[in-house]
Parts: sequence; C-alpha cells; structure tokens
Amino acid sequence: MTAIPDIPLNDGTTIPQLGFGVFQVDDEGAHSAVATAIDAGYRLIDTARVYRNERGTGRAIAECGVARDELYVTTKVWNSDQGFDETLRAFDASMDRLGLARLDLYLIHWPVPSRDRYVDTFRALVRLREEGRLRSVGVSNFQPDHLRRVIDDTGVTPVLNQVEVHPYLQQPDLLEVHRQLGVVTEAWSPLGQGKGLLDDPALARIAARHGVSPAQVVLRWHLDRGCVAIPKSVTPSRIVENLDVFGFELTDADASEIGELDRGERVGPDPDRFTGE
Ligand code: NAD
Repeated sequence: MTAIPDIPLNDGTTIPQLGFGVFQVDDEGAHSAVATAIDAGYRLIDTARVYRNERGTGRAIAECGVARDELYVTTKVWNSDQGFDETLRAFDASMDRLGLARLDLYLIHWPVPSRDRYVDTFRALVRLREEGRLRSVGVSNFQPDHLRRVIDDTGVTPVLNQVEVHPYLQQPDLLEVHRQLGVVTEAWSPLGQGKGLLDDPALARIAARHGVSPAQVVLRWHLDRGCVAIPKSVTPSRIVENLDVFGFELTDADASEIGELDRGERVGPDPDRFTGE
C-alpha cells in the first residue's frame, strides 16, 4: 500500500498530504466513495455541511475498520452559519451527522467579507479547539487580507487555507503569503474538476513520458509544491489511480512546462465576492 507523507502544521500536528474530497456527491454516493477511498489507503477525508453528505461520510468512517486516530476528518462551517454562537451550533450539528466525538480540522468555508463575520466565526473555532473537540483550526478561500486579519485579531494562525489551485490557477503569490505566515496550502479542485485541464496536450506529453495519467502528473505536481491535495472521484479505478503518485518523479523540465500553463483561470467563485446565497 502507498505511504502517504504527513506534513507538519503550525500547531504541532500533522496532516496527510493527499486526501479525498466528496463535493457534488450525494449522501449514499459519499458513503460508498469514502469506503472505497479508505480501503484504497486514503486517510484524509474532506467534507462540508453544505455538501449534504456528512451522514454518509460518517457511516463509511464508522464501518471502515480503520482506527479513528489513523483517520483525518475535515468539515466546514457554511456561510449562513457564520458568527460565534451560530458556529458552535453548526459544529454540534455537523458532529451529530458525522457521528464523531472529535474532529481533526474545522474550516470556515468562505470568508464572505460582505457579512464581516469571519473573525467571530474563527474565535468559535478557537474555542472548540480549547475545549478539545477539535484538533486544528483552519480556513478556506481566504485572501491574504482575510488571513492577516484573523491572525491579528485573534493571535491564532490557521493551520491551512484550502483554496482553488491547479495548473490553470497556480496562485504563486498566495502560496508565498502562506509560506511567510506558516500556513499550509490545501488545493481544492486540484484536477481543475477534470474539465479541459486533464486534456491539456502538455500534461498528456509529460504523462506519456512517465507512463502515468495526466491526473497523476497534476497530483504529483501539487505534492512537489508542498501543497495538500484532495482530489475527488466516485469511480473506484480513479480513486486508486489518484493515490498512486509516489512511483515516479517529475523532472525540473516537467515542472517548468506545467508552470507555463497558468492562466489565472478559476473553475469556482471569486472569494472576495462569493456569499453562497
Ligand atoms: P477535482 O479537481 O478533484 O476533480 C474531480 C473530477 O475530476 C471528478 O469528478 C472527475 O470528473 C475527474 N477525475 C478525478 N480523477 C480523475 C482521473 N484519475 N482521471 C480523469 N478524471 C478524473 O474537483 P473537486 O471535486 O471540485 O475538488 C476536490 C475536493 O476539493 C472536493 O471534493 C471538495 O472536498 C474540495 N472542494 C472545496 C471547495 C471549497 O470551497 N473549500 C470547493 C470545491 C472543492
């Protein structure tokens, strides 16, 4: 079985560098995909309240036969639940659906700057960590000014920022800010949702040179950049394929060829404007 490296976080804990996401999968689909993923060797599972599949995800975790402390489970507080008390309640509800006593990582899903509640929301995450219900506190879709504000106002640095990153949206400036702040980058839609990106001729050429798939090339590239990546698939063969990225190495020439693919092109919403409502 593939050994997935653990990478250190700024609170003294670690996270598996490659994980499994369940966005756009219904509850029953998540149950079966997460079961397949854990069986294949994934240990990091990424869900969210808004995905409406915390119950199926939790059932797969309960049934998988892998010890709870070997798994790393993430969920996220949704935009309409932001605020200190609201977040504490949303956390309880997520934990009920997941069937877990303790969570590894809780993220603020989007900053929603227009509502300006993300600092209070982050304070609730810190409270949950102090109470021992949560191992680590993090954020998602935060821009540098949002990150700096939560750090300045609370004195706590999120362990990671889960943001859209893939070869068509490489975000070098944001990754540099993360490096300076000691925040790990976790790449969402690491495969660009499969659309177009995985048909890119440059990726096809690199993949052919190594005898692997374009998806494997892209995942290896994320890991080489020091990011955590959480690809999603509901197809068992792809779930296994996306984990099999440790048997080859990209060359410097491969990496610079991928570097040239950056178009600054998002598949998801703009974090400065998205309200989710
Ligand atoms: P992804 O980049 O992981 O792409 C998934 C799609 O790529 C699949 O549906 C499939 O069509 C294709 N695919 C997967 N493996 C493949 C393979 N080996 N070969 C060919 N095609 C393949 O997209 P995603 O699901 O949007 O992102 C991954 C995870 O990131 C999500 O499940 C979720 O957990 C997280 N996410 C978070 C946010 C956020 O706002 N925090 C937003 C989007 C996604």
